[in-house]
Amino acid sequence: MADAAYQKCINPACGSEFDCGQAMFKCPACGELLDVCYNWDSMNVPGKLSEFAKRWGTRDNKLDFSGVWRFRELLSFCKDRHKVSIGEGQTILQQNDAVAEYVDMGSGRLYLQYEGLNPSGSFKDNGMTAAFSHARMVGATSSACASTGNTSASVALYAHSCGVKCTVFIGSGRIAFGKLSQAMDYGAQTIQILGDFDDCMRQVQDVCTKLGLYLLNSLNPFRLEGQKTIMYRIIEGLGWEVPDWIVVPGGNLGNSSAFGKAFGELKQLGLIDRIPRMAIINATGAETLTDLVNNKKLCWNDGKVDQSIIDDYYADLTARNFSPHTCASAIEISRPVNLKKCLRAIDICDGVVRAVPDEEIVDAKAIIGKYGLGCEPASAATIAGLKRLRAEGLIASDERVACVLTGHLLKDPDVTVNYHKDKQGRFSNPPIEAPNNLDEILKLIE
Ligand SMILES: *Cc1c(COP(=O)(O)O)cnc(C)c1O
Ligand SMILES: [Zn+2]
Repeated sequence: MADAAYQKCINPACGSEFDCGQAMFKCPACGELLDVCYNWDSMNVPGKLSEFAKRWGTRDNKLDFSGVWRFRELLSFCKDRHKVSIGEGQTILQQNDAVAEYVDMGSGRLYLQYEGLNPSGSFKDNGMTAAFSHARMVGATSSACASTGNTSASVALYAHSCGVKCTVFIGSGRIAFGKLSQAMDYGAQTIQILGDFDDCMRQVQDVCTKLGLYLLNSLNPFRLEGQKTIMYRIIEGLGWEVPDWIVVPGGNLGNSSAFGKAFGELKQLGLIDRIPRMAIINATGAETLTDLVNNKKLCWNDGKVDQSIIDDYYADLTARNFSPHTCASAIEISRPVNLKKCLRAIDICDGVVRAVPDEEIVDAKAIIGKYGLGCEPASAATIAGLKRLRAEGLIASDERVACVLTGHLLKDPDVTVNYHKDKQGRFSNPPIEAPNNLDEILKLIE
């Protein structure tokens, strides 16, 4: 195909290719996921990653300021005039020795990539800036997504910033209030379905097909192109070196898929000399990936994934009427849409998968809050998972590890308030009640 960027089916037995002017989100030939691929020779990719640093000097240009688009040669699927940016990706890589001590890592070895600093408060903005740029490129006027919360917040924000209508589908019950408040406040039409996230995900795909709406879930391969830049920024934060490990929470598995693709491409382009390993962390109440990879031995197998293992697993979930359950609502997903891309990422990054219980997640979250920048429960699964991997000895104390803190503390105030007020964990820090009397108050100050 002559275009510099094109879409390609991830199934090697199919391998159908399509131009980027179409919004499809599944291969029309075989139903598998699509990738955005590039003819790199025509893309002006810098010879060294450090050359991207020069964009810091020209950040009055909106695209150079964006933490996504300053790496635009690595995700060049649309023209500059289509690109939408509202200042996403101004995030920081924070070395944190106190959290390192909690997980038994050596000092100077643990880094937290805080994606809560994005405009809508989660990493999702990295993907939405790219997906909405593609939406504008194909002339979409209406969009939709299913969401556990953060996708809806990010979609709503980007949709109104570029004049595209949006409808967000959320499940009933378990959505964090901080997130729902954003979708409503940013003016999205919000439809709450009597069902869980997986039900919403199925409905939204049919709605989009029937009404021709632009779909913004991470099935959308353009979204994942934007999410690759989280890895570029980690490398940037390490002085253009790669860490030994990336630790990421696993929900719909868009991030892990995007990260694997990012590293595969950087290695292919000769921009990095080695690929870090990746640990993907589920919550035990939503551990489809962990079960499939660790127990059922599901793997990428050069693209010949054993579909019968997945079908049997999902049939069993259905037969048991299983609904995932964890306080980490952003990863409360039992049928992850990017499963196969994630298997590929595990293959590329020699990845491992673990599941951690909610009690460990909320304790880790309190530690991140006390010593880091705070985060929502799904993000804290990374630290809980890292603690386990250290205890197993799989990660050594002197390896350099970057954990992706995916969402802001204020996204889910209920979990935080309940943990502290109701003394639910080892690090609860409840308010102390005091009489309205100076002497009594003075006695209380530590
Ligand atoms: C969406 C989300 C996740 C899950 O990411 P996937 O790419 O779907 O695996 C994790 N944490 C937060 C805060 C999220 O918003
Ligand atoms: Zn196909």
